[in-house]
Amino acid sequence: MFALSNEWTVQDTLFDAARLHHAETVFTLGNGYFGTRGAFEEYYPGEMRSTFLHGVFDDVPVSFTELANAPDWMDLEILLAKERFGLDSGVVLEYSRSLDLKTATLRRVVRWQSPLGRVTRLEFERFASLADEHLAGVRLTVTPENYDGEVEIQAGVNADADNLGLKHWQALSQSTIRQGAWLHCQTRATQVGLAGGFHLKVKAPGRTRYARWNVRGHPTLAGITPVNRGQPITAVKWFAYFTSRDQKDPLKALRRKLTYLPRLDWESAHSAHCLAWQAEWDRSDVVIEGDPEAQLALRFNLFQLLSAAPRHNERVNIGAKTLSGYGYRGHSFWDTEIFMLPFFTYTRPEIARNLLSYRYHNLAGARFKALGNKYCGAQYPWESAATGEEVTPTWVPHYADRSKLIRIWTGDIEIHISADVSYAIWQYWQATGDDAFLIGRGAEVILETARFWACRAEWVAELDRYEISDVIGPDENHEHVNNNVYTNGMARWNLQTAFAIIAWLEQEHPQHWLRLRRSLHLKPAELKAWQHVSDHLYLAYDPQTRLVEQFEGYFQRKDIDLPALEPRQESVQSLLGIEGANQVQVIKQPDVLMWMYLQPNLYDKETLRTNYDYYTARTDHVYGSSLGPSIQAIMAAWVGKPADAYEHFMRAARADLFDVRGNAGDGIHGASAGGLWQAIVFGFGGLKHSETGWQTSPCLPAHWKRLAFKIMDQGNLRSFEITQ
Ligand code: BGC
Repeated sequence: MFALSNEWTVQDTLFDAARLHHAETVFTLGNGYFGTRGAFEEYYPGEMRSTFLHGVFDDVPVSFTELANAPDWMDLEILLAKERFGLDSGVVLEYSRSLDLKTATLRRVVRWQSPLGRVTRLEFERFASLADEHLAGVRLTVTPENYDGEVEIQAGVNADADNLGLKHWQALSQSTIRQGAWLHCQTRATQVGLAGGFHLKVKAPGRTRYARWNVRGHPTLAGITPVNRGQPITAVKWFAYFTSRDQKDPLKALRRKLTYLPRLDWESAHSAHCLAWQAEWDRSDVVIEGDPEAQLALRFNLFQLLSAAPRHNERVNIGAKTLSGYGYRGHSFWDTEIFMLPFFTYTRPEIARNLLSYRYHNLAGARFKALGNKYCGAQYPWESAATGEEVTPTWVPHYADRSKLIRIWTGDIEIHISADVSYAIWQYWQATGDDAFLIGRGAEVILETARFWACRAEWVAELDRYEISDVIGPDENHEHVNNNVYTNGMARWNLQTAFAIIAWLEQEHPQHWLRLRRSLHLKPAELKAWQHVSDHLYLAYDPQTRLVEQFEGYFQRKDIDLPALEPRQESVQSLLGIEGANQVQVIKQPDVLMWMYLQPNLYDKETLRTNYDYYTARTDHVYGSSLGPSIQAIMAAWVGKPADAYEHFMRAARADLFDVRGNAGDGIHGASAGGLWQAIVFGFGGLKHSETGWQTSPCLPAHWKRLAFKIMDQGNLRSFEITQ
């Protein structure tokens, strides 16, 4: 699989067509504006080549909307003395691909023997500039080893891109230019405009002539140059994207850029990009000494998060699969707020602010959803895209029998996300002290979600309590349950936090409080009602056993002996069927433990341990949700089980590099990547904030010699070093 050559490089030394999609995901490059899967420059049948730009969604049946696969920027075809280069013909004599995480540069070296026996060395380098988010570059060096002749490099911009068959682009205009080409197009339904174009420069000892084909939707330019054996030639293709989401006139912006691209040289543009990445790593890197595999895997995951993070846009979120694949169609979930955001909040708060602002700007979508369900306040969608309206599909084809449909209930009843969004805002404020954000944006979200919860909770007079019925908690194996502890607990937390914020505003910023109270039409009677809900919202706990029942009736479901199901290569849900799994106690991912993780001060050690033991034995760790292992690792560390913590941690760390679940081809597991950082800092590092400041209570795996990480705390960078 992927070899470990050093702690910064992911390497692949074997071309294996069967792993094409997996490798495409792993070798994704991005700069927070766009992300490009690691497809090859030249085209292959069956590949899943894609470039996604944040926020560029278009309509699609069933799933409402999806990120539209943008016109392809990499597009290069290479003719070596008239023979087309391709790994699926001739003989591959040498092959290696390496992703340097430090500089976010992807390199491929191939020695290839053509069907007619010509041997050529080809080296490709590519990056998505972090210094200039509109810019991407690919450099190709071709060395003919045993022949003289002519090399032809065909470069294009290809709007014939589709989303697994579905086309989103409508061509508006296009042209070839002296040493390049451009096109302007728009998405069919949402009419997002995109302009993309390139400049190609061939450097060779002989004279290069250029030929142009202004093919509809695929303007192409070829550089044709004589070559001599042993003498390398290089070609550099610079590409730029602009969209109507960030420019009034994307084509105009592109044309301006195209006049500048010919003056760009590889070395300086690449070093500006490397410097930008160095600045990221200075803030975010984590050092694990004594475990090269864990070190590399962790960096790879942080790299993928940083590659997807919007630096200059507060109207987009990160999808569950980042910008690296078709999975979940680019939709965002609680994966961002609960799993990925802490990494940004504590290392790159500017990015966290952008992501949280996305939720603020989409309050309208959340209010719309609440209203549609006859609730008040803001109910965030389970799946969110450009507008913040609910985009969870209602029906999808059955995973085993595609002629049947499955009803997806998460969009209707997995409602904890509204509290998760508020939680992330609160955490951001605590970590940064960004009062301006809380006053101007965050407080409104927290109050509006609190309002939703107060409306959503149901009063049960005979029990003198509020309940929340018919939900799905984080564990999606059990649907339509009542009083899920995670949901009820987070709802209560949301209400309590609303009061804390009101008290703070009243005290510190009375003018702002007055303004907010007026604009939200908050009356004392309503606040009193919130208080009543918050004080009487039911939260299960059995003091005798110390067990927290995940939802009402969970303990009555049939118990399950998971080891007895081994060996298996599928989730318990697919083994037993949806109804079958619903009837037993197997859980897809931590639910009670997830709740305990987010509220560390609520339960004592003994309670934590009891629940850890109970739920760990009933969790589908390997084939359940990829969101589980990192949280499981944290909880194992908290109950003093470093070996178990390590096992779960590595399961999360390997999720994409080793394709643990067999679905890495769909894109990076972003939540798992974010959870890994939390497992390091809050799990193994045991970092906690208390009245007296930051404290660590580490629990390192026995073979780790040293763990070092940094966090931003109230604008100050703090370094932590932990040794055995
Ligand atoms: C998980 C959810 C998650 C979603 C997107 C599901 O399989 O159960 O918790 O939000 O995937 O990653």
